[in-house]
Amino acid sequence: ELKAEIIAIGDELLLGQTLDSNSHWISEKLTEIGIFPCRRTTVGDLREDILDAFSQAKSRSNLVLITGGLGPTNDDLTKPLLAEFFDSDILLNESALEDVENYFHSRGREVSEVNRKQAELPDKCQKVTNAYGTAPGMWFEENNTVFVSMPGVPREMKGIMTDQVLPKVKEVFDLPAIGIKMVKTVAIGESVLAEMLSEFEEQLPNHVKLAYLPEAGEVKLRLTGRGKDKVLIDKELSLLEESLIKIVGSYVYGKGNETLASSVGKALKNASSTIATAESCTGGYLAHQITSVAGSSSYFMGSIISYNNEIKKNVLRVDNDTLLKHGAVSEQVVIQMAENARKMMNTTFALSTSGIAGPDGGTEEKPVGTVWIACASELKTVTKCLHLGSKDRTLNIHLSAIYALDMLR
Ligand code: ATP
Ligand code: MG
Repeated sequence: ELKAEIIAIGDELLLGQTLDSNSHWISEKLTEIGIFPCRRTTVGDLREDILDAFSQAKSRSNLVLITGGLGPTNDDLTKPLLAEFFDSDILLNESALEDVENYFHSRGREVSEVNRKQAELPDKCQKVTNAYGTAPGMWFEENNTVFVSMPGVPREMKGIMTDQVLPKVKEVFDLPAIGIKMVKTVAIGESVLAEMLSEFEEQLPNHVKLAYLPEAGEVKLRLTGRGKDKVLIDKELSLLEESLIKIVGSYVYGKGNETLASSVGKALKNASSTIATAESCTGGYLAHQITSVAGSSSYFMGSIISYNNEIKKNVLRVDNDTLLKHGAVSEQVVIQMAENARKMMNTTFALSTSGIAGPDGGTEEKPVGTVWIACASELKTVTKCLHLGSKDRTLNIHLSAIYALDMLR
């Protein structure tokens, strides 16, 4: 089986100055073509550590993708160390020189001595053209192992990888067909899902993997399968997806690249229903979620952002006594907000929110993260009290909107 790994080189990655987004991106691209990477290594700009990473990788993998340390400066060691590791001499590469000259001349600049040095490559590698910068990539092949070195600059690495490296990897290795299914859930925790799905997971064949991808308020479930035949693997994954959806049931709101707002929007459209929002703590974020979906104008009527109590009273017509007696963050108030907004905007449904987003404020009785939400329709108004248990304002606003949307399903 093909084993692939990634090595990211650079002090800045280890010192917390630069997030190693390259490894993340490379992993994603490899997975998309059916290669599940088995390891990632990050090393600083230190000779022994880099050589050690090379030899370990070579001892266990067939494909090693390296980023970083290709620049012409002295702290960039990747090229000389790869030359040493593969017993190569570094010589001027005519074709690489042409690339560098073209790169500069097309920008009306002269090639400097430092840049000319970038056209020198280990004689045992093939040049990988870099159309996005001056440092060419390198492709080494020895005893069934391929080492590819790419620049650290994300834009250059992505360009080279897309244009040159991925097509060549597909050519050299016998890659499996790959299928991916995404099932999206809301208002259920990752651990509860894992419990529900434990038997399903145990029975999965080896060539199919289930991943839990949690985000605020939501968990995406991704099934990735590999096989010989694309049609067969897609068919197998469709069946597995179906049984997964059956197990998780009503927590599933959608598939593929659907979002909660787009799936709710689809349902509203299909039922020829309309919606309005009356927002306090979400400050229009709920309406923003709804209107982020293309075509939302066919069901979204509008929002009243009644952040201040005067606006709750004077615009939304929330009862003064109710506000005084129960406070703005109360079931009674969100009921009136939703019901009045629905009548004022003449919609099928209206959602309302009122809560303490934090980080400060709150009382013992209503701590930060206490949010009341309501959904009004002609026949009834349903309410819910959220105890978000977090002081993170952005998260609390997001979760309030997610749970409010969830009331429409
Ligand atoms: P250069 O020709 O610019 O010197 P290089 O191949 O030597 O390219 P580095 O010097 O290692 O690359 O890094 C260049 C830039 O790319 C830096 O700003 C660095 O922070 C960024 N970078 C390097 N490695 C990564 C990585 N793994 N993920 C994200 N950014 C990275
Ligand atoms: Mg560097």
